[in-house]
Amino acid sequence: MVNRLKADLIETSRFGRTPPKRTEGYDQLDPEKGVTRPTGTEENKQIRDFAVSRMKEIGLEVKIDKVGNIFGRKEGSKRNKGTVMFGSHLDSVINGGMFDGALGVFGAIEAVRRMNDEGFENKRPLEIVVFTGEEGSAFIPSLLGSSVLAGKLSVDEALSKKNAMGQTLGKALEYIGYKGSLERGLDDVEYFAEMHIEQGPILDKEGIPVGIVENITGIIWIPLTILGQENHAGTTPMRMRKDALVAASDIISFVNKRANEMVEKLGSSTVGTVGRLNVFPNGINIVPGKVEMGIDIRDVAPQNMESLKNEALKAIKDIENKYGVDIRTELPFRHIPTVLSSEVVSVIDNSASQVDIMTKRMNSGAGHDSQNMAGKVKAGMIFVPSVNGISHAPLEWTNWEDIEKGVQVLTQTLKNLSQLN
Ligand SMILES: [Zn+2]
Repeated sequence: MVNRLKADLIETSRFGRTPPKRTEGYDQLDPEKGVTRPTGTEENKQIRDFAVSRMKEIGLEVKIDKVGNIFGRKEGSKRNKGTVMFGSHLDSVINGGMFDGALGVFGAIEAVRRMNDEGFENKRPLEIVVFTGEEGSAFIPSLLGSSVLAGKLSVDEALSKKNAMGQTLGKALEYIGYKGSLERGLDDVEYFAEMHIEQGPILDKEGIPVGIVENITGIIWIPLTILGQENHAGTTPMRMRKDALVAASDIISFVNKRANEMVEKLGSSTVGTVGRLNVFPNGINIVPGKVEMGIDIRDVAPQNMESLKNEALKAIKDIENKYGVDIRTELPFRHIPTVLSSEVVSVIDNSASQVDIMTKRMNSGAGHDSQNMAGKVKAGMIFVPSVNGISHAPLEWTNWEDIEKGVQVLTQTLKNLSQLN
């Protein structure tokens, strides 16, 4: 039964890969050659076109909205309100994997095929959605299409965003033929479901095929610049230095140590990372005069994120004094944590029992369009394992048996949601 979905994913795995190569198994992955299909590129058009023809093939009415979100709708037999919407995204990061987003879109299409094959009659309307620009790999912010759909970002604002070539989203969508005219909101939508790869190691490690997401983590980013004094590494005495990189190393250590302590002492799911560091002038014989860096803090509990942020800011003040450097922090950027709908969580749970598939309740450490949807409708997410926890990289993989189990749970969930009164 998995074969059509598997065929779709294998067929689309060549889009955005150089050279274009269909990938059928883990052993065919090349650690250097992933897929690259940011919004508005030719490769993005290829995979969109493929999805649209699959949707039309199964009788869905396909419409495109003003920011390029794609909708494929099947009317309900008993109600024309309370739509059950489901889907994901088709854009990718640079050199990413073939399942991130695509699994949720082609899994959604496969779920409709299975319902059609069974002659299943949905009472509520069913509607697939393909969100524009989830990754933010061409146009910032990420989660762009769902932000517009959920009313958090205006159409005009979104269309004026520019990619690295200075092209606006509006122009890019015109170029690939996806600047539609539909104006869609969520007033008639009641439920949303998204199947996605976990992008972390938990399900793979525990050997559980399906995860039911209860919370999506919040994120705080603190960008900062440390200004010291660039100088000669041979002639500047130790006590006369203002070494920006030594100050940076204390900040890195603090964030890592404190996040570890919070996990140990509070049992929290806090993570703290410094993943960006630019050293100036970056010479082996020069005392570093400037460092640009960024702190990433995540947790499903907002108070934990806030306390790590506040402690980090305080530590930064102390480090500034200790090394005589000047540390400028920019206004932190944040996404608050999202609690997904407990009603949808229990429908997914019951659906998995009906099809006899083992699940685990869990949180998502990555951001998803579901978090925007959850602000307006009852939303839930189904995770399938990522081999070795890898994603956003060419070695991203999910085993076909797990994909089959995920789509069985998704299909049963949609059937149950669509029959609710
Ligand atoms: Zn994704």
